[in-house]
Amino acid sequence: MTKALPFSKVDIERIIEKYPTPFHIYDEKAIRENARRLLAAFNWAPRFKEFFAVKAAPNPYLMKILKEEGFGADCSSLAELVLAEKVGLAGEDIIFSSNNTPAHEFIKARELGAIINLDDISHIEYLEKHAGLPELISFRYNPGPLRGGNAIIGLPQEAKYGFTRKQLFEGYGMARDKGVKRFGLHTMVVSNELDPYSYVATAEMLFDLVVEIYQTTGVRMEFVNFGGGIGIPYHPEEKRVDVNLLSREIKKAYEEKIVEQGLAPLRITMELGRMITGPFGFLVSTVLHKKEIYKNYVGLDACMANLMRPALYGAYHHITVLGKEDRPLDHVYDVTGSLCENNDKFAIDRNLPEITPGDVLVIHDTGAHGHAMGFNYNGRLRSAELLLRPDGEVKLIRRAETLDDYFATVDFK
Ligand SMILES: *Cc1c(COP(=O)(O)O)cnc(C)c1O
Repeated sequence: MTKALPFSKVDIERIIEKYPTPFHIYDEKAIRENARRLLAAFNWAPRFKEFFAVKAAPNPYLMKILKEEGFGADCSSLAELVLAEKVGLAGEDIIFSSNNTPAHEFIKARELGAIINLDDISHIEYLEKHAGLPELISFRYNPGPLRGGNAIIGLPQEAKYGFTRKQLFEGYGMARDKGVKRFGLHTMVVSNELDPYSYVATAEMLFDLVVEIYQTTGVRMEFVNFGGGIGIPYHPEEKRVDVNLLSREIKKAYEEKIVEQGLAPLRITMELGRMITGPFGFLVSTVLHKKEIYKNYVGLDACMANLMRPALYGAYHHITVLGKEDRPLDHVYDVTGSLCENNDKFAIDRNLPEITPGDVLVIHDTGAHGHAMGFNYNGRLRSAELLLRPDGEVKLIRRAETLDDYFATVDFK
């Protein structure tokens, strides 16, 4: 099975003349269309908002595109807050959903007027002490044994995140007594999940909680946030989540639970990362060597420092050998990088057409948690990021690191 590409072999050869491999390239047109699809699906929901999870693709150009489409930013560190600020986001267009948070980051979030989503009940007093309590506050709920989670994120009861159910009720009461006026409720219990009904179950769980919290404490929720976690079809045989179906099912639950109880309007928000940019980024790399020992290897000029997911989670990323799309997949290779770690592989025992050095490989679905997870182990430098504009032009949106960058933090004197 194949996966479509927004560029041809000739296009890529032209790009490589100017920007040597490896690089990540993002498809602006597809990112915009995807963003519009999500917003259109939820246009029934009062003041619907997607806060793009900045960690997935922390590039200012991508964030500006998403800002133009009406998205906010979900930040979890000082650098991500500053990035959101630098692209012109402020106030309640930013949600600060962090954990184990240092005081100076809360101070920055308060300065920006961001929505603060607390990860722990003890942070109510910590925030009050260091940055003062805002008028609006949100809490992250961890349902523990009540939900199963999924393979990537694990079991909620094993996860470090969020308030227990009991703490949530206590926390809202405490915040109200301290003068907080507006409230939000957040959770994130799945990651890379392709079953829309698991996300619907999250919505139902939060709607039920909104009702219960209102009935027991009198605290009325202004918004719910379902977190991130919607998956993307990394395998060619998988299908993307149908956002219209998702929206219909969530609307049904909203009407049954929220409207019915007189608690509308309740704002619906999300902080998706992967499904917003993931399928629209590609890591382009050139084959340096072939090696035949106990297994057959092809070695790329990219390595796991450019894309860590296969090594980190055994994640599947589809690979296209440019110009050989129609050839039979009659060879089996491990596709490797150059790190001195044997898990530095993009694919293991992958069926591919016969590869020769100089072939250009496209590794798909690197638009989220790709370049973002990069690192410098073994002295490998982080690659450039390019933007394929809707008119076919290519823009450099982050240059490749140089040795000067690498040595910038040490002094040889
Ligand atoms: C990682 C993360 C997200 C985004 O997750 P995706 O799987 O990229 O959608 C959203 N919110 C929080 C708190 C996260 O940690």
